[in-house]
Amino acid sequence: MNKRETDASTPKLRSKRTDPRAVARRRRQIINFLIGLSQTEATVLLSPERRGDLLNLARDLLNFGLAKPHKEVPRAKRIEATAFIIRQAPDRFQGVIASLRKLLSAIADGKEFLWELGEKSLILDAGALKSGDPTNPSIYFWPITSLEQSVMIGAMLELASAEGAMVRRCVRHVCGRVFLAARPKQVFCTRQCASAAVFERYKENLGEEEYRAKHREVMRRWSRKKRYQAVKQRKHAMQHGTQAKRR
Ligand SMILES: [Zn+2]
Repeated sequence: MNKRETDASTPKLRSKRTDPRAVARRRRQIINFLIGLSQTEATVLLSPERRGDLLNLARDLLNFGLAKPHKEVPRAKRIEATAFIIRQAPDRFQGVIASLRKLLSAIADGKEFLWELGEKSLILDAGALKSGDPTNPSIYFWPITSLEQSVMIGAMLELASAEGAMVRRCVRHVCGRVFLAARPKQVFCTRQCASAAVFERYKENLGEEEYRAKHREVMRRWSRKKRYQAVKQRKHAMQHGTQAKRR
């Protein structure tokens, strides 16, 4: 009925993102892939006799959402384009492997992994992660210079999830409020907006002029009815009055 209701996302992708078991299975696949990658060497991967392995690696990076090719690269060419980037700069790819190795070691040992980004570092605190305390952030910037930074990184991590994907804008355009949908088909922020939209659509389908005409007609009929009732009441009263006199 509503376009957004059906076009929200393809059912297959949606279930892969929201089914908790599928999410966990996929995450384990990615982690196993990362461990495998951290235990290889770029020179081995890039040796001419292992061209197939390089293409497989590029495909896995793409399938696991770990690579983002340029928008202009056509879908069919994404694997080749990613493989090309790896082949072109073996040293840089060895850097990726080395960083991954440090990250996984830190997690295995319950330590902090510090990734330098200019003047700041992005830290993954495996101790906090393994403590299981959800109020203790496991990823944050260091040094923490503003509340905005800690709020924003926490917000982005939470929102990059199946639940975050349910954040929508109410399709009733006079409302347009951002809300968290409770059901996949929910397109209005509240019950009030849903019923107001039904009324608005009814009015729209009828056309403004016709709606007014219909409204006038309803009002006319209503007032005629009122008048008629008033007359009837008066008559009734009179009859009772005369009857009373007769007795
Ligand atoms: Zn709304």
